[in-house]
Amino acid sequence: MIDTHAHLERLCDINEGIDKIILAASNVEDSKNNLLLGEKYTKKLLVAVGIHPAEIDDSPTELKKLVEENYKKIVAIGECGLEFMGDFDQEKQEKVFRAQIELAQKYKKPLIIHARKAVDETVEILKEYKNLSGVFHCYAGGNKRIKKVLELGENWYFGIDGNLTYEEGLVDVVKNIPKDRLVLETDSPYLTPEPFRGQENNPNNVIYVYKKVAEIWGLSFEETEKIIDGNVEKLFKIV
Ligand SMILES: [Zn+2]
Repeated sequence: MIDTHAHLERLCDINEGIDKIILAASNVEDSKNNLLLGEKYTKKLLVAVGIHPAEIDDSPTELKKLVEENYKKIVAIGECGLEFMGDFDQEKQEKVFRAQIELAQKYKKPLIIHARKAVDETVEILKEYKNLSGVFHCYAGGNKRIKKVLELGENWYFGIDGNLTYEEGLVDVVKNIPKDRLVLETDSPYLTPEPFRGQENNPNNVIYVYKKVAEIWGLSFEETEKIIDGNVEKLFKIV
């Protein structure tokens, strides 16, 4: 099992079944901390660096420098994208997002996309670029936008989290996502799945998301794990 999206300040006790964890970043400080953790736990942790659309006071120039110096230690750029909730500066979000798309392009890294109430707008921007790959982390575009994301190309994936265990609508979404385009995540410390909903989340709980997908697909846990982890390895070029 691979948790493709977790925010960790430090490494907690990780169960044997969890092969890898991808550390997502929300800002430059997170990104630096991810790099430090990644160096310490090279076998388990994979590093992403990025600026979340709600944290765009951080400088893309600083992030760029960090990527230039560390691109060999980084498996993805993100999370980055657009978030149209509450008060937001669309223009500035777009600028910071585009800077990160360019980094992903230059260093041939997949993007970890955060798109909340903004899947259509995010897809429109991504369409302008060539040779991108990535995941719509915590996909929340519903059934009607699955096709749009798929049309971005065969290197695009959907990330699904623990809310699959309690949100009816998401079950249907998972049924409509092609099996070879699905990856799973915890988004720790958020989105804790049943049976631990309400507590702080950690990467070990990704097993409940795998179990739920196995149930939806009508496959064994082992078959499901093989398909999902194969997708993750392809997207993030994990050997
Ligand atoms: Zn996140």
